[in-house]
Amino acid sequence: MNACHFCGGELKEELTTFLHEDHGKMWLVRNVPAFVCMQCGEKEFSRTVTRQILSLLKRPPSPAEILQVPAYDMTM
Ligand SMILES: [Zn+2]
Repeated sequence: MNACHFCGGELKEELTTFLHEDHGKMWLVRNVPAFVCMQCGEKEFSRTVTRQILSLLKRPPSPAEILQVPAYDMTM
C-alpha cells in the first residue's frame, strides 16, 4: 500500500485521530496508525487497524478523556 487510491499521491504512515459518528454519538480514537496521502490528505487504515477500531467501538473501554466539542451545521 504505497499510493493513494484517490489521487495516486504518496502515502506516509502517521498516527492520526479517528473520528466516527454513530446515531448522534461521536467516537474519537487518538493515535491510530494510518497511511496518510501527502497530496490530498486521505487516510487509509490497514485491515488490522480497522479490525481493532471496530472491536474497540463494540466494547468500548473507559475513555481516556471526555471532550466537549462545538458542532456546526452548514444548512443553518
Ligand atoms: Zn490522495
